[in-house]
Amino acid sequence: MKLQGKTAVVTGASRGIGRSIAIELAKNGANVVVNFSGNEEKAKETAKEVEAAGAKALVFKADVSNADDVQAMLKETISTFGSIDILVNNAGITKDNLLMRMKENDWDQVMDINLKSVFLTTKAAARPMMKQRKGKIINVSSIVGVMGNAGQANYVASKAGVIGLTKTSAKELAPRGINVNAVAPGFIETDMTGELAEDVQASMKQMIPLERFGQPEDIAKAVVFLASDDADYITGQTIHIDGGMVM
Ligand code: NAD
Repeated sequence: MKLQGKTAVVTGASRGIGRSIAIELAKNGANVVVNFSGNEEKAKETAKEVEAAGAKALVFKADVSNADDVQAMLKETISTFGSIDILVNNAGITKDNLLMRMKENDWDQVMDINLKSVFLTTKAAARPMMKQRKGKIINVSSIVGVMGNAGQANYVASKAGVIGLTKTSAKELAPRGINVNAVAPGFIETDMTGELAEDVQASMKQMIPLERFGQPEDIAKAVVFLASDDADYITGQTIHIDGGMVM
């Protein structure tokens, strides 16, 4: 029980990687704020699994790109659990198109939900973490934020931005006892990647040295490590969890 008595906020935890992270944190003893923006039923299912693992869950609706929603979520976290020890910025969307066809609104929406959200939640969570002189922030980027990817200018820019924000907040918050790291998943089997055409999926698999797509648990286990005291001397890093795609 590496995380016994800790409180974690996981954004976008109703499904996919976020759901798996919430459950894995709970299995390791952390109480979890299960954030969602759309599907409350799915968020409640995640909360049930958190509770089945023996931890407490708080389901909280918040659009992570909205500063008031984020403030309200952090306020409720502290009043329910008394602290915030772990923040996992997982919520994200794609609005893919070729650069020349991409609409300004699709650029803005992806940047707001994938990148501005991390700025907002980090500011809101860092305040109480500073008082505790301890905290762990883990941001979910993507290997395309390192490699680039045709058809995803908005998404790639947001995920590269997450890596830059991770490094900068790691430097600023290190003297206050707060570690900030990122994970960069490769191709993980979720609803998000399930939408890709079969031929695209097949060609992607050929690029993976470990010869399989990742599972949400592959990301969740690394997040638990980064959230634990075992990672106290690690900050500002981006761990690629991609079966060796980028090395
Ligand atoms: P997903 O679409 O299943 O989950 C994303 C979650 O974010 C959903 O629960 C969604 O409701 C939530 N969300 C969206 N907008 C939100 C908002 N405004 N406020 C709060 N929550 C919001 O996708 P996933 O595959 O589980 O992806 C999770 C994270 O991992 C994302 O940041 C994604 O970019 C990243 N990622 C995924 C892969 C992959 O292969 N699946 C690869 C690299 C990075």
